[in-house]
Amino acid sequence: MSASVKLPPFDPGDPLGIDDLLEPEDLAVRDTVRSWAADRVLPYVAEWYESGELPGIRELAKELGSIGALGMSLDGYGCAGASAVQYGLACLELEAADSGIRSLVSVQGSLAMYAIHRFGSEAQKQRWLPGMAAGDVIGCFGLTEPDHGSDPAAMRTHARRDPGGDWVLNGRKMWITNGSVAGVAVVWAQSDNGIRGFVVPTDTPGFSAPEIKHKWSLRASVTSELVLDDVRLPADAVLPEVTGLKGPLSCLSHARYGIVWGAMGAARTCFETAVGYAKSREQFGRPIGGFQLTQAKLADMAVELHKGILLAHHLGRRMDAGRLRPEQVSFGKLNNVREAIEICRTARTILGANGISLEYPVMRHATNLESVLTYEGTVEMHQLVLGKALTGLDAFR
Ligand SMILES: Cc1cc2nc3c(=O)[nH]c(=O)nc-3n(C[C@H](O)[C@H](O)[C@H](O)COP(=O)(O)OP(=O)(O)OC[C@H]3O[C@@H](n4cnc5c(N)ncnc54)[C@H](O)[C@@H]3O)c2cc1C
Repeated sequence: MSASVKLPPFDPGDPLGIDDLLEPEDLAVRDTVRSWAADRVLPYVAEWYESGELPGIRELAKELGSIGALGMSLDGYGCAGASAVQYGLACLELEAADSGIRSLVSVQGSLAMYAIHRFGSEAQKQRWLPGMAAGDVIGCFGLTEPDHGSDPAAMRTHARRDPGGDWVLNGRKMWITNGSVAGVAVVWAQSDNGIRGFVVPTDTPGFSAPEIKHKWSLRASVTSELVLDDVRLPADAVLPEVTGLKGPLSCLSHARYGIVWGAMGAARTCFETAVGYAKSREQFGRPIGGFQLTQAKLADMAVELHKGILLAHHLGRRMDAGRLRPEQVSFGKLNNVREAIEICRTARTILGANGISLEYPVMRHATNLESVLTYEGTVEMHQLVLGKALTGLDAFR
C-alpha cells in the first residue's frame, strides 16, 4: 500500500464501511424511516411495551403509509416500488426502534399485500392494495393454527364450495399479527383442491379476531386469534393465481427477508446502548469499557452485528437481481436472528442490573427477539431447510 494513500477514518458506527455499498436514494430511505421512528416510536415505545398495547396503531399505519413503508418493494397500486435493499434498510431502522413496529410493517407489506399483489386478481388488487399502501386498511395473514404451526400443511381450517359458487370457511387461526385491527385478512384454508388463499373482509359475518393477551414478548404489537364460523365469501374471494403451500411459503420468504435486516436493527440498538454504558459506567475506579473482558464482549458483538448487516446486504442485492433462493433466506434468518438475540443478551450483561430495566431498551429487544426467533419459521425449521439443501435428504418428518 502506498504511503501517500490516505485511509478514511475508522467509523465505530460502520466499522466495515458497509455504507459505501449504498446509493444516495438508499441513504434517503434510511434517513426518512430512521427519523420517523425517532419521532413517533422511540419516545413512547417503553410505555406501550409496559402497558402491552399499541395505542394509535391506525394513525401509525397511516403515517407509515405516508412515508412509503407499506408494501414498499411492490410496484403499482400506490406502492413505493423501492428496491429490496431499501426495503431491508427500512426494516432495520424500524426494528432498531421495536420489533413490534417492524412486525406491523412486515405483515402488512410482505404477507398480506404481497399475497394479494402476487396471487390476487386484478379486481382484488384494485380493491385492496391502494388503501393498504396508504395505511387506511390494515391487513393480517392467517396461516398458523392452534395445533399446526411449523407444519402448516396439516392445517384444519377448511373452505367448502357451496353449490351456488360461494365459499364457506370454518376454522381457527392463532398468533396472528394485526388480527384484531385488520380490515382485511388473507386466510389460508384446505379446499377439495388443496390449500387456497382467501381475501376476507373482517366485517364478514362469522369472522372475529379476539386479541391474545399476557404476552411477554412483542408487547407493542397486536396479536390475535382468528375465528371463522361459517364465513361466507363470494366465489371471487379466492386468490386465483396459486394453489398449495407454495402460496403462503413464498409470502413467508419475502417477510423473512425483511427479518434478516430487521433483527440487526434490534441488535444495533442493544450494541450502541452497551457501548455508551460501558464508556460511562465506572467500577473499580474506571469505566467498565476499559476492562479487557468488556472490550472482548463489545468486539465480538460488533463482529456479529456487522457480519449480519453485510449478509443482509448480500441477500438484498441477490433479491434485487432476482437471484435470491429460499434456502439463502433461511441462511440469513437463521444466522441473523440467532446472533441478534445473543448480542442483546450480552448487552444485558454489560448493563448489569440496569439491563433488566425498561429505562434501557435492551431487555425489551431481547424479549421481542424471542418471538422473532420463532415466527416466520423457527430456528429448527431453517436448520432443516438448510440441512435438506446441503444433503439432499429431507429430515422434516
Ligand atoms: C408474536 C407472534 C406473532 C405471530 N404472527 C403470526 C402471523 O401473523 N401469522 C401466522 O400465520 N403466524 C404467526 N405467528 C405464528 C408463528 O409463525 C408460529 O408460532 C411458528 O410457525 C411456530 O409454530 P408453533 O408456535 O406452533 O410451534 P411448533 O410448530 O409447535 O414447534 C414447537 C417446537 O418444536 C420444534 N419442531 C417442530 N417440528 C420439528 C421438527 N420436524 N424437527 C425439529 N423440531 C421441530 C419447533 O422448531 C419448535 O422449537 C406468530 C407467532 C408469534 C409468537
